[in-house]
Amino acid sequence: MLVPAASRTVSRPCLTALAFLLPFLAGAAMAQPVKQRLADCGTPLLLVRYTHPPDLDHACEAWSRVSAFLLGEHRLRLDAPVELVFSERVELGPETDRLRVLGHFERATRIVQITSIAASWLREPGRLMFRLPMDEELHVSLVAHELAHAILFDNFRVAEPGRACGEYLAYVVQIATMAPHARVQVLAQYPERDFATLDDITEIFHVFFPHEFGVRSYRHFVREGHAYMMELILSGGLQTDLPPM
Ligand SMILES: [Zn+2]
Repeated sequence: MLVPAASRTVSRPCLTALAFLLPFLAGAAMAQPVKQRLADCGTPLLLVRYTHPPDLDHACEAWSRVSAFLLGEHRLRLDAPVELVFSERVELGPETDRLRVLGHFERATRIVQITSIAASWLREPGRLMFRLPMDEELHVSLVAHELAHAILFDNFRVAEPGRACGEYLAYVVQIATMAPHARVQVLAQYPERDFATLDDITEIFHVFFPHEFGVRSYRHFVREGHAYMMELILSGGLQTDLPPM
């Protein structure tokens, strides 16, 4: 999952206002709903649902990068196709406390949901990713992050090594597969060092500082060695579950 920095919002449509507006809308010349389209980026492993063509471009670019990195370089596998759905709004959680997120991978359905690049929410002041305003390259990296979750899910050799383990690797893939100029820009935002020890890779750090957690993860992964950290986490050699209360 990828959340914007400090972005918990509760969204409930005002039914009273809708009841008032609907008769007027029905009588007006309503805009045609934008038709959802399907594409596959040339692979049977991916189905993309989108309405805005730039989202499809970002999907295929992200797939190209992530599959080269994880399926090619690291020789991981994807057991079954993944569906990638772009929409104006992606939300998680119970009806009474919805959390709007940038993207999310749902294991049970193998659906990756991504906020469309066309969503004005992404361009609101203060809506930052890696302390930078959203742009095309960061949006591709967002798709890469969630596709990484989908592929990694098929490759964990333990039931649940802890959420921070999955986020560590998803951020690593996101930053490692960025265009070089974008990666330089992201890393420059974080003068902080990487994780000093494996014990510093915690769910608490991830929850409170998700994007700094991501940059620290990437630096740590590079310092410790790609093959070593990938194997350590996928094999369950690192556990980041919260301790029982
Ligand atoms: Zn994530």
